[in-house]
Amino acid sequence: MSNPAQPICIIGSGLAAYTLIREYRKINAEHPITLVTQEAGDFYSKPMLSTAIAGQKSAEQLVTSPATKMAEQFNLVIHTHTTVKQIDPAHQKISVMSNNGQSFDIEYSQLVLALGADQIRIPMNGNASHEVQTVNDLQDYARFRKQLDGKKKVVILGAGLIGCEFANDLASGGYHVELIDLADQALSRLLPKPIAQALEQRLSSLGVLWHLGVSIQSVSHDGDQLQVILTNGEVIQADLVLSALGLAPRIQLAKEASITTNRGIVVNRQLKTNLQNIYSLGDCAEVEGHVLPYVMPIMQAARTLATVLAGQEASLAYPAMPVMIKTPALPLIVSPPPIGSTGSWSINELEDGIEGLFHNDRSELIGFALAGSATSQRANLTKLLPPILGST
Ligand SMILES: Cc1cc2nc3c(=O)[nH]c(=O)nc-3n(C[C@H](O)[C@H](O)[C@H](O)COP(=O)(O)OP(=O)(O)OC[C@H]3O[C@@H](n4cnc5c(N)ncnc54)[C@H](O)[C@@H]3O)c2cc1C
Repeated sequence: MSNPAQPICIIGSGLAAYTLIREYRKINAEHPITLVTQEAGDFYSKPMLSTAIAGQKSAEQLVTSPATKMAEQFNLVIHTHTTVKQIDPAHQKISVMSNNGQSFDIEYSQLVLALGADQIRIPMNGNASHEVQTVNDLQDYARFRKQLDGKKKVVILGAGLIGCEFANDLASGGYHVELIDLADQALSRLLPKPIAQALEQRLSSLGVLWHLGVSIQSVSHDGDQLQVILTNGEVIQADLVLSALGLAPRIQLAKEASITTNRGIVVNRQLKTNLQNIYSLGDCAEVEGHVLPYVMPIMQAARTLATVLAGQEASLAYPAMPVMIKTPALPLIVSPPPIGSTGSWSINELEDGIEGLFHNDRSELIGFALAGSATSQRANLTKLLPPILGST
């Protein structure tokens, strides 16, 4: 049984955790909240990580509110640099271990898993494959930025949202960038080919070189540099290799506690898992088949879950939520059609922009991709899209 005197315990200190706390404190200023995080617990905007190199921003400069201030502002107990090792749903407690080796248990009345997602890695050969970087949090960013010091050439594996944003940012910051993707175009899951080609051209004009339809076979030391061998046999030299292949929800901790998982941690419209008093939101969660690792869905989910945790009724709805891709070389806004949709793209060339509209077989607009001047159509077109999850 739940002991209401125990704190609400939240695992994670990313946007999902802190937005939930902000929303919950609007309803209940008093109930104890304990937050446990592997990180330093400072609040920062993760989307800034792929736009901060050109502006020479340090990791410290990206912090908008340190953990101590968050604790004070929102009346929290925060355990930083502490990893949750196990959830014990029967006794409503979690077992944690801090970086200095201390182990202890924390009891909860309600538990929220806001665990985020890991960058996907693929196996590679070569004696430097372990040196391939990923940037998924502030600490990664600090390390990557330090390693860039005095270096010139970065190879990026993955021309998706994060890969293209880093390519634009690094090229604007004066680095030589080569971008590799198995697909035959940039942003293959989000853009129709003509808009992808326009992006490729704009990034090429910043000096970015493209290797499409291939992947990396091996990364090896070659003097002071790295030698990258592609699957087509081509060899390129680099100072650093960054992998940006997309995200995999962190589900292992939940799985080990018999919480239902699929691609993400499975929750209903109240963000509740199959186990009593355990909830999940953010990049690790899956709602009715949707894993949406973006800011806007987190805002929606946090408002709903705050209401539910406060004992009131609420049900999650997702309107259409277009995503801005931060490639200043060609600004983009996308709202991709649902995976598996049938239909076709129509492409309209505008002055200094391209509008891509995806209609289904019944001629209904179900997705769009806007480039350059066409991004001004965002609000009008969003109103025409069906919701991702309609109201219940
Ligand atoms: C480079 C980059 C650019 C992006 N740009 C955009 C953008 O332009 N627009 C957009 O909408 N989205 C963007 N996103 C996605 C967006 O940033 C994420 O959806 C969002 O930040 C995820 O927040 P989260 O709280 O779910 O996860 P995270 O921020 O990953 O937080 C997870 C937290 O859980 C903690 N944790 C995990 N496991 C444990 C454990 N066992 N014990 C203790 N703590 C644990 C971690 O330490 C971390 O604090 C971008 C993402 C990246 C990486």
